[in-house]
Amino acid sequence: MIDLHTHTTASDGSFAPAALVRLAKAEGLTAIAITDHDTTAGNQEALAAGKEIGMEVVPGVEISADSPFGTLHIVGLYIDPSNVPMETTLKELRDFREARNLKMITRFNEELGIPITLEELATEAGGDVIGRPHFANLLVKKGAVKTYQEAFDKYLKSGGKAYLDKKRLFAPDAIRMIKEAGGVPILAHPYIVREKSESRFEANLRYLVDEGLAGIEVYYSEHSSGDEALYADLARRHNLLVSGGTDFHGTVKPDVKLGRGHGNLDIPYELLNQIKDSRQ
Ligand code: AMP
Ligand code: FE
Ligand code: FE
Ligand code: ZN
Repeated sequence: MIDLHTHTTASDGSFAPAALVRLAKAEGLTAIAITDHDTTAGNQEALAAGKEIGMEVVPGVEISADSPFGTLHIVGLYIDPSNVPMETTLKELRDFREARNLKMITRFNEELGIPITLEELATEAGGDVIGRPHFANLLVKKGAVKTYQEAFDKYLKSGGKAYLDKKRLFAPDAIRMIKEAGGVPILAHPYIVREKSESRFEANLRYLVDEGLAGIEVYYSEHSSGDEALYADLARRHNLLVSGGTDFHGTVKPDVKLGRGHGNLDIPYELLNQIKDSRQ
């Protein structure tokens, strides 16, 4: 069993990279990819921990991108975490994110009557990247909302009272950047670009494949067996690698278990062999 989509404290997960690798070992996984939002900062610690305890760790990243058919997420597996052009671009994205966070803080303080400081958020985040999940957790701790989900529904979701858009790369540029950093670009949780019409959805996928997309997450925590079958079929027809992961965030998404998702996932190691072979 493997898990090729996970988050650590470097972004919005609750496990530090080394702790996540130890958890993977304890759960009986044979490989794990670290795919934090907009940062590769967790990879080094995870790779070192993997070496120490004997767990295969795949360095990775997850990037939000714009496309002609909306926002999507691309996971880059086997990126070189020290690739300079990629690091420069990721730093820019994080800088924009910081500016966005400051504006959101101002909104909470000045318009919504919920006092929040950057220090509190940074403590909540504990890593490289502060994101909306950290706002949500802080709002719960402050008693401004009862639940994490209420924080999103009231304030943080797109259209919410404190929501601000963030800067994103254009999908073809994100794909190119991942490839130039030695990585394999994979469409994460493809349902976010799914359309009612299957042929339109397939056209979206075709567009991404033409731009260099190499794989697609067939296995994902939220996929039904019908979804899996559809994505597997699309992967086969478009000659895409099959990937899979849970999008594990630790206590931030407590109902998603590492490697297992909602309990039904069992992603075979063989997929990783094919992803590796594609890099030769
Ligand atoms: P950010 O990168 O700061 O825009 O935050 C994105 C993260 O917020 C995603 O990875 C999800 O974990 C979480 N998220 C986004 N939209 C929602 C929502 N409507 N409900 C709950 N969590 C959400
Ligand atoms: Fe996240
Ligand atoms: Fe994602
Ligand atoms: Zn993710």
